Amino acid sequence: MIERDACAALDAADKLAPLRNQFDLPHGVIYLDGNSLGAQPKSAAARAAQVVAREWGTDLIRSWNKAGWFELPARLGDKLAPLIGAGAGEVVVTDSTSINLFKALAAALAIQAGKPLAAGRKVIVTERSNFPTDIYIAQGLTTWLDRGYTLLPVDSAEQLATAIDADTAVVMLTHANYRTGALHDMRGVTAQAHRHGALIIWDLAHSAGAVAVDVTADHADFAVGCTYKYLNGGPGAPAFIWVAPRHQDSFRHPLSGWWSHAAPFAMQPSYEPAGGIRRALCGTQPIVSLAMVECGLDIFAQTGMAAIRSKSLALTDLFIALVEQRCAGHPLALATPRAHQQRGSHVSFAHPHGYGVMQALIERGVIGDYREPSIMRFGFTPLYTRFVDVWDAVDMLVDILDGEKFSRDGPHESVT
Ligand SMILES: *Cc1c(COP(=O)(O)O)cnc(C)c1O
Repeated sequence: MIERDACAALDAADKLAPLRNQFDLPHGVIYLDGNSLGAQPKSAAARAAQVVAREWGTDLIRSWNKAGWFELPARLGDKLAPLIGAGAGEVVVTDSTSINLFKALAAALAIQAGKPLAAGRKVIVTERSNFPTDIYIAQGLTTWLDRGYTLLPVDSAEQLATAIDADTAVVMLTHANYRTGALHDMRGVTAQAHRHGALIIWDLAHSAGAVAVDVTADHADFAVGCTYKYLNGGPGAPAFIWVAPRHQDSFRHPLSGWWSHAAPFAMQPSYEPAGGIRRALCGTQPIVSLAMVECGLDIFAQTGMAAIRSKSLALTDLFIALVEQRCAGHPLALATPRAHQQRGSHVSFAHPHGYGVMQALIERGVIGDYREPSIMRFGFTPLYTRFVDVWDAVDMLVDILDGEKFSRDGPHESVT
C-alpha cells in the first residue's frame, strides 16, 4: 500500500516542485482539469493590467509597433516551438484550434489536389473517437468543397493501419485522445501515411505542454493545438498552428485575410501570401488574450519537456496504482492505456455513475471532469500537480465511493 508520506517524499525530491509557486491556485482545491483549462500563472494578472492600462490605455494605436502586437503571433510561436520539437519560424499562435484545423486541412487537400499522381485521392482518414470539433470541421470543409471528398472514421489503431491506402489524401488525428488519454504512435502513423503518399495533420490539443512531442523528428506535415489547456494561456486563448518547413511555400488556405498577406500595410487590392509561417494567419488577433499566452510559455522556458513528461508519467502511474489499490471492489474500469508510450497526461476511469461521482468530487474541491459515456477524467499537470494531491484526490474518491455519497442521476436528468 502506498502511503501519503511516500507521496510527500516524492514531492520533496521533485525538481519541478518549485514551479507550482508560479501559479495562482485556489486554496482548498485539488485541480485535476488542467487538460481542459490550465491554471493561472501568477504573472498573468499584472501582464493583463499592463496590456490594458499601458499598451491599450496610454499608448493606443502606437502599441501595434511599440509593444510588438503585430509580431506577437510569430514571437509566441517561436517560444512555443521547442515544446513540440519545431524550429523558429514554423509556428504561429493565432485563431482557435478549430479554425487552424480548417486551414491545415484545406491546405493539405489543395497540396494533394495539385500533385498529378495524388489528385484523385478523396479520402480523409480520422477516428470516430476524435474530439468532435475536428470531425465537424472536416465535415464542414468537405461538404462545402463538394468535390467528392469523404471522411473515413476508424475505430481502432488496427483499423487505422488498414484504412490508410492509395486513396487517402490526408490523415487527421488527435495525438492524445481527449476521452481516454490514449496516445498514437506519431512516428509510426506518420510514416505509414507517407508510405501511402498521404499527408498527416496532428492535433496536439491534449499533448502540447504535457507529452514530449517532436514533429520534426517524426516528420509530421502539419500540427495544431490549444494554448488554454496544458500551456496555461487562459480561457479561449488563441491556438497554434505548425507547418513543416518543406510545405510552407505550398501552404495555401482559404482564410486569406490581410495578416497573411505578403505586405499587409501596402493595402493592395489583390492577395499575395506572405512567405513563411505568417501565411497561416488570417486577421487581427485578440491581443489581450494573446498576451496571456506568454505568461504560460515563460514557465515552460524554465524547464524541459523531458522532465515534464517523466513527472507526468510518475503522476499518472501513482494515480492508477492508488485507485486500483484503494477502490478495489467498486465498478471502476480504467479507460487509459497502461503502457507509458500509449498514455497522455490524463487518466480516465469509467464508472456506471461517473457523472454523480465526479459531481461529488467537485463539490469537495477535487476538480476533474466528466465525458460521455460514464468517463471520469483526471488531468495531471506536472508544473503544478503534487504527488500528495494525487493521494488526497484518491482519498476523497475512496470516501465518496465507500460511503455512496454520490447521486445516481445522469447529466441529462439533472439538467431538467
Ligand atoms: C480542446 C480541443 C479542441 C478545441 O478546439 P477549439 O477550437 O479551441 O474549441 C480541438 N481539438 C481537440 C482534440 C481538443 O481536445
